[in-house]
Formats: sequence, C-alpha cells, structure tokens
Amino acid sequence: MKPIQIAVASGKGGTGKTTIATSLALSLAEKYHVAYLDCDVEAPNGHLFLHPEFNTSTEAVIRIPRIDKNRCTLCGKCVEVCQFHALAKVGKTIMVFPQLCHGCGSCTWNCPEHAIEEIPNPIGVLESGKARQDFHYAHGTLTISEPMATPIIRQLKRLEIPPQTAISILDAPPGASCSVVETLRGSDFALLVTEPTPFGLHDLGQMQGIVEEMRIPAGVIINRENGDYLPLLEYCTKHHLPVMLRVPFERRIAEGVARGQTLVEIYPEYRQCFLDLFDSIAVLANQ
Ligand code: SF4
Ligand code: SF4
Repeated sequence: MKPIQIAVASGKGGTGKTTIATSLALSLAEKYHVAYLDCDVEAPNGHLFLHPEFNTSTEAVIRIPRIDKNRCTLCGKCVEVCQFHALAKVGKTIMVFPQLCHGCGSCTWNCPEHAIEEIPNPIGVLESGKARQDFHYAHGTLTISEPMATPIIRQLKRLEIPPQTAISILDAPPGASCSVVETLRGSDFALLVTEPTPFGLHDLGQMQGIVEEMRIPAGVIINRENGDYLPLLEYCTKHHLPVMLRVPFERRIAEGVARGQTLVEIYPEYRQCFLDLFDSIAVLANQ
C-alpha cells in the first residue's frame, strides 16, 4: 500500500479533533503501521490519550538572519523578498525583527553580497517515541512566548518516521491559520471535524476554502450531533464534502474523554467505524 498522510483538522477549537485523531490511530494500528504526529504545537494533547514513551528529544530552532554590516551594500533585496515584513531598511541599516521572522531563508538566498548569516534560535522541543499498540508518536511543543508555530511544525514533519509506516495521522492545530496550512501541506486527505452549530459551520467554511485552495480531498466528521442540523448538511452537499462519520452528543463520551479515555475505549464498536472510514479515505484520496 502506498503511504498515506491524513490530516485531522477543524476550523474551530474544541470540536473533538483529537478525540477523532487518537481513535482513528488506535483503530488503524490494529491493521497497519501507523505514525501519529501531534502538530498542535501550542497545546499538544494527543499524549494525554495515547501515553507514548518518548525516546528522542531534540531542540526545534528557527534560523534568524544576522546582517554583516561590512558586506551589506544596502541594496534592499532582502527587504523586498521577505514576505513577512521581518526586515526593514532604516537609514543606513537593515533591521531584523526576529518576532516576525519565519526562518524561511529567502533573504539569505537572495542576498547578492552573501552578507547574511543565519543564527539558530531555539523555539521549542520535538519528542518522539512509541505509543500504545506500538505505533510511532511524535509531537512538538512551542516554547511559551514564541510566536511562530509554523517552523516547529515543519521540523516535526521532517522528523524520521519508521520506514514501514503506511499511514501518518496529523493532528492539526485548531483554527485556520498558517500553522494549519503547514500541517495540511503534503497531506493526501483532510478529515474536517465539525460540530453542528452556526460557529462550527462558519469555521468549517474556512477550512473548506483552505483545502480547496490546496487541492486536498476532504471529508467531514460531525461530532456531538444532536439531531440533523440542516444548514451543515446542506453546506456539505453543496460543496461536495462527504459526511464520513457522525458521533452523537452523549454524556458518556464527554465524561470518558474528560477522564482521558479515547472514543474507542469508551465505545469499542467505533473501531470498525474508523476502519471503514479509512477504507473510504483511501478511495477518495486516490481519486
Ligand atoms: S540583500 Fe544583502 S546586501 Fe542587500 S540589503 Fe540585504 S543584506 Fe544588504
Ligand atoms: S528568513 Fe524569511 S522571514 Fe526571516 S527575515 Fe529572512 S526572508 Fe524574512
């Protein structure tokens, strides 16, 4: 089987994205080699449910430019190419604003005088190891006060995973920001977890726009469903988003999750639902 990367995302926080991602991983790990990457680097919580044992820990860094004033001719090329406005020409100086820098390296590449040196700046920690059912688990933790989540997500995705991995599951950060786009990049399929409320629908719309722009096939999981919410179902139909799983609003699930249980531990019968879900994903991802 060709390796497949599935991102589990939601425009809105608190929709149950990790509940879905962890149970999908546990179910698939019974049949396949699975890797789970928690890309919600500002508040990773997959480990609370999957209890991995970490065996590697590495520093995540962002490379911030430093200008060599002896070489710089003030041509302004670096300022021009920086899409994040992290550089500015002020008088006879090129100023660097590290808090805005994404560490993309464009300024260094484009400097005709080779006047830019990149200085590694620690922004967090990457940890990896084994979770239950022997599957690979990795997450990143952004240091509090560090503003840039995308570089650490990029580095997390570049960490080595076992070569036999057939399915990678990426738990995306909430929202519809750059860090979500970075998580989705390279994915074969996006599972969009939503809840049947006006807020859930609004934020699903934002996610739908992103996956459409990125040309990533997607499907919807409705969590905490309490009867049909027609605007959501109509939206999915209109935008050709298949509703792939519906999880009811139940006190037993909420209490179990609050205790740190996964959905498939609360209701083991969901394992088959997630296996069937993956079969559908495999078909849709290859279309
Ligand atoms: S591109 Fe290089 S030479 Fe030009 S302003 Fe920037 S640092 Fe200076
Ligand atoms: S590394 Fe990228 S984001 Fe940072 S200053 Fe250079 S061009 Fe801008």
